[in-house]
Amino acid sequence: MANSTWRNIQVIIVGAGPSGLILSLILARASIQVTLLDSEATIDSRPRAAHYAPSAIRVLQQAGVLADVRRDGFMPKDMTWRKIDGTPIVTLTDCSQSRHNPEALTVLPLNLLGKVLLKHAEANSKIELRWNQRVVDIGQDAGRAWVVAKDQAGNLVEILGDYVVGCDGANSQVRKSLFGEKNFPGKTWHAQIVATNVYYPFEKFGYDDINFIIHPTDYYMAARITTDGLWRVSYGEDTSLTLDEVVAHQPAKFARMLPGHPQPTDYELLNVGPYRIHQRCADAMRFGRICLAADAAHLCNPFGGMGLTGGLVDVGGLAECLIGIAEQRADAEEILDVYDRVRREVYHTIIDPISSSNFLRVSATDPETAVEKDEFLAMVKRAGEDKVLRKELDDVSSLVLHYPDGCGIL
Ligand SMILES: Cc1cc2nc3c(=O)[nH]c(=O)nc-3n(C[C@H](O)[C@H](O)[C@H](O)COP(=O)(O)OP(=O)(O)OC[C@H]3O[C@@H](n4cnc5c(N)ncnc54)[C@H](O)[C@@H]3O)c2cc1C
Repeated sequence: MANSTWRNIQVIIVGAGPSGLILSLILARASIQVTLLDSEATIDSRPRAAHYAPSAIRVLQQAGVLADVRRDGFMPKDMTWRKIDGTPIVTLTDCSQSRHNPEALTVLPLNLLGKVLLKHAEANSKIELRWNQRVVDIGQDAGRAWVVAKDQAGNLVEILGDYVVGCDGANSQVRKSLFGEKNFPGKTWHAQIVATNVYYPFEKFGYDDINFIIHPTDYYMAARITTDGLWRVSYGEDTSLTLDEVVAHQPAKFARMLPGHPQPTDYELLNVGPYRIHQRCADAMRFGRICLAADAAHLCNPFGGMGLTGGLVDVGGLAECLIGIAEQRADAEEILDVYDRVRREVYHTIIDPISSSNFLRVSATDPETAVEKDEFLAMVKRAGEDKVLRKELDDVSSLVLHYPDGCGIL
């Protein structure tokens, strides 16, 4: 992009997870040179995100990957909250509103999303992607920012740029280097979530594309995540169990919780991944020339799929800021402060409270009275008969991670 006001900037992105890859793609499409570093040899394929809400869809569009994501993924239909015996409590029909909404909720498991993103990144000459580079330190002065990375042989290399962005996930080294090893304000839930990918015909039992089962101990989400019948089952487990114990206990959990009470021979289990869950946000998402985004900056529990959705809105906004700086349309000090303020405000006012309610709804609500006592479920029920309310509900679910106009995608 060569015009008289264009200023070449070099951005170093730490972490080639979904947020780092998307940020790289948006910047590279605007002709900004990116160095993308990851400590591993390739993308992470653990069972994590699969559902991306409308605000994330807008960012996938910004990165030029939405058509491929939609080709490989799908838009889910109904979403139902159920009792443990499968009895429906309330249903949100056509939850993605795909006929009316070009930014409709879309499903694609993170490992498949990663493949799409990687293909686009590898084809873009503005992105230099370096695997096996573990960032161990960062630094900055008035004119530059840098990272120190260690390769597999233990060699240290310093890489210089104009800005550094930490997209290096929940255990972010960039965040730790900025704020200290243990400084990540918030809380850890007294809960362990086990995410599994499994082939099992839930549809035969009348289950919809997305199901939330409300129960004090056997709460879970069962959602179809591919068009060939793979399902994500994420369930609560005793926090005292070790990984081996979680794996050993999984068949008994499935036999007790899932419709049809299946034995291991009735399903094909592909992955089992236990996670502790957190609600945390860093004290700042910008410190001079160094920024944080997505899980490196904030975490929420996975019920309702707000983690990466929020992270992608971060990187969409941050990319706009950095492009504005390169085009000399924006003052770097001011615009990066806006990024920091707006994204943390969105976390504290939207992502944290809504994702917390989502978790409490499935794990700490009486299923017998949920539809009367839980405000959100009561609204879903009323929206089934009231078109105006349904429109309001859809607008809320489209807007949960947007910020009011004026801050735009930020
Ligand atoms: C069970 C489960 C289900 C979920 N479901 C959803 C969902 O449906 N929708 C949704 O929006 N979100 C969901 N999430 C959250 C979502 O998975 C995360 O928010 C998302 O993966 C974060 O992406 P990221 O790019 O910020 O970090 P990560 O995906 O963690 O990527 C970080 C990258 O940084 C690299 N890295 C780490 N340290 C260094 C270092 N020192 N140097 C260099 N590289 C480094 C890592 O190798 C990795 O590649 C779910 C999470 C879980 C656990």
